[in-house]
Amino acid sequence: MKIIMKKNCILIVLLITANIIVGLSVLGVDLSHGKVPLLSTTTDYNYNLANNDGQWQTVRMRVTAYCGCPKCCGHFSDGITANNHKIEHGDVFAAADKKYAFMTELIVPGYNNSQPIKVMDRGGAIKGEKLDLFFHTHEQALAWGVQYLDVKIRKNTN
Ligand SMILES: [Zn+2]
Repeated sequence: MKIIMKKNCILIVLLITANIIVGLSVLGVDLSHGKVPLLSTTTDYNYNLANNDGQWQTVRMRVTAYCGCPKCCGHFSDGITANNHKIEHGDVFAAADKKYAFMTELIVPGYNNSQPIKVMDRGGAIKGEKLDLFFHTHEQALAWGVQYLDVKIRKNTN
């Protein structure tokens, strides 16, 4: 009985304390002692990721390049991507494994001025953590070569 009384007393004290804190908050009293949360901005690759919703993850990838020529695409060199996009002048996009859905956003350092591009194509050899970047000429694709890069991938929030 004594113990139960004690517990009840503590509970009442806690309730009163809670009421005082809630009351102060309602009255607009600042209980944070003037602490202001620091805002941080990300400016990786000159692109402000903070302006976008959704989360980005960084994945080390083997990044190759291709163009629409028969050498690069074989009998798929019809100028249409795997997601049925008709390639137009100035297009920038990547082929990626099907685990990265079409239109998934990527930032590949050194491609498209390190601005976001989208997954729009597939490739027979592009599996797992491999990317194939589209270029408009075979020479440009050859010049890219093979690079191992930290690619930023925007997680699908759908
Ligand atoms: Zn080519």
